[in-house]
Amino acid sequence: MAQGAAASRPPGDVEADECLREYRHLCSPDILAGQVAFITGGGSGIGFRIAEIFMRHGCRTVIASRSLQRVSEASKKLVAATGQQCLPLAVDVRQPQTIVAAVDEALREFKRIDILVNGAAGNFLCPASALSFNAFKTVMDIDTLGTFNTSKVLFEKYFRDHGGVIINITATLGYRGQALQVHAGTAKAAIDAMTRHLAVEWGPNNIRVNSLAPGPITGTEGFRRLGGKFAEESRRFDTIPLHRAGNKTEIAHSALYLASPLSSYVTGTTLVVDGGSWLTSANDFPALLDFWAAGANPNP
Ligand code: NAP
Repeated sequence: MAQGAAASRPPGDVEADECLREYRHLCSPDILAGQVAFITGGGSGIGFRIAEIFMRHGCRTVIASRSLQRVSEASKKLVAATGQQCLPLAVDVRQPQTIVAAVDEALREFKRIDILVNGAAGNFLCPASALSFNAFKTVMDIDTLGTFNTSKVLFEKYFRDHGGVIINITATLGYRGQALQVHAGTAKAAIDAMTRHLAVEWGPNNIRVNSLAPGPITGTEGFRRLGGKFAEESRRFDTIPLHRAGNKTEIAHSALYLASPLSSYVTGTTLVVDGGSWLTSANDFPALLDFWAAGANPNP
């Protein structure tokens, strides 16, 4: 491999919701020392790896999702691998009172929260013509309203007076009207707009707000549900400029950048982490429709 290629060589990862077997720091291991991150969706997939990488850089975490069992099991793995504290809490981001209770508990435990990662989301493939009213609403409720609800609770309870960093995990689906994704594409586009609005309004409170938009990421529920394996097997990732899907550690490294002082002057923007995928990947409606019709993904 050419020398310069090291800069696009993927870091190691593991498929399942398990911690990395080995990790080589690319940043100072104490870049987040003393800080606390509140991560919705932190019990699985991308959110789990973000929690791990933050903890490997000195951060304590709160991981929150609907299933207390899921976040409790994840927390045990994260603590064992990193030696940092991790508080698992049950939250439904559609219900503000559950967020209020969780943030109160996190503040009782850690006395501070510096970083919010809005990672909770739901998604599935479905053509607009077959999408139920309720399915569209559910995705908007979890992704868009959930991001607003959690951000607002954190603002009122802590960030307004102490500053903070908000990272909204979005997607590139809306950039070119990705087929079978009107629900998630619309929900994530609204979050990207929210990122800019909140960056403007909350900048004076020393709160930075950014979106992070992953492309296809291996070892995730998103990859499994949205046809990632199919795309891989049919060599569709060859059309991505970097010729591959990304991995969870790559997303976590980008989140680390946005959470840390490395990005101290970055706010109101979307960091796309997709190997250039949205620029060149096929948005093939008939092929996706066939894949869906073969039973890939029913409405939830
Ligand atoms: P995932 O493992 O399914 O993560 C979603 C998480 O959200 C789960 O931990 C889930 O836990 C939680 N969640 C769902 N509904 C919730 C609710 N109402 N309240 C609180 N938590 C809730 O999926 P992932 O693929 O890693 O995706 C993580 C993020 O990256 C999402 O925002 C997704 O849209 C984005 N993304 C992923 C990809 C990809 O290729 N995977 C690409 C682009 C963007 P519970 O079920 O316990 O609630």
